[in-house]
Amino acid sequence: MPVLPATEEAISQAAQALARGEIVAFPTETVYGLGADARDARAVTKVFAAKDRPRFNPLIVHVPDIAAAETYAPFDDTARKLAEAFWPGPLSLVLPKRPASGIADLVTAGLDTMALRAPNHAIAQALLKQRSCPSLRPPPTGPGGISPTDATHVAAELGDLPAMILDGGPCARGLESTVVRVTGETPALLRLGAVPRQEIEAVLGHPIALADEDAPIASPGQLVRHYAPNTPLRLDATEVEPDEALLAFGPSAPQGALTTINLSAAADLAEAATKLFASLRALDQSGASRIAVMPVPDQGLGEAINDRLRRAAKAR
Ligand code: AMP
Ligand code: MG
Repeated sequence: MPVLPATEEAISQAAQALARGEIVAFPTETVYGLGADARDARAVTKVFAAKDRPRFNPLIVHVPDIAAAETYAPFDDTARKLAEAFWPGPLSLVLPKRPASGIADLVTAGLDTMALRAPNHAIAQALLKQRSCPSLRPPPTGPGGISPTDATHVAAELGDLPAMILDGGPCARGLESTVVRVTGETPALLRLGAVPRQEIEAVLGHPIALADEDAPIASPGQLVRHYAPNTPLRLDATEVEPDEALLAFGPSAPQGALTTINLSAAADLAEAATKLFASLRALDQSGASRIAVMPVPDQGLGEAINDRLRRAAKAR
């Protein structure tokens, strides 16, 4: 895949590639990100197919500014204060997602909240003015696990996945964004990062607690509450009971469920990933007493699908 100096023309090409559902790697002030159109579920699936991404963690949607962010999520006074103080910059805000945001379910891992950030980087800004996108950090390069702060790192690691890499030279910070959740009564620090806690506290006018990894809202190592259906899940189902909803996979789904959704009759893992959260949500609302889940092969994206299914089964 081409590594292109980030000229105006290359940036337009990158925006067009995003519009076609392709993946583009681009620099921000923190690290290089892999971007996809946030509203295109298929494209977002491709981002997760990058190696070393065995889980569907929610992604941060990158936007040029507050006005663009507000089309996806409403800002309350606190969110606005933080964004006005730190945007563009390495602060990600977790906000309630507008139901009509159009953001693909995979971006938010099925949650009704979403993370937004306006990066402080001329190339990222120029690209995002043409196309908002979620991005994730490419896997670390080399045996030392060095962050991808250079276009050559990204190229070495990702092969053909991105349609193009916008080369903006080395990233200034090389540290992840600080993540602050502004959804309940009090904001919470979900991840320490490039904006120090004290600077956030100075803007808020009060201390902010780091979400406790052991707290019930968090899940180990991720500090993210995962989407989980209310209906119990039964994994590795090969037959169904009449009071069960069936989450099927592949051509030979058993008959007789109350209702069935097939993640992919063609056994296509990318299709299954795209449909996963919406399907769980629909089956959760079907009135079934249990959701039976057929086995999904534990390879490629299947590993991530199984990770989410296991979490959803455990979450209750
Ligand atoms: P990154 O690894 O830099 O791509 O950042 C992704 C991280 O942002 C996730 O691992 C979470 O920690 C955080 N994040 C994104 N969306 C949400 C959300 N809806 N709720 C909580 N945390 C989120
Ligand atoms: Mg992450």
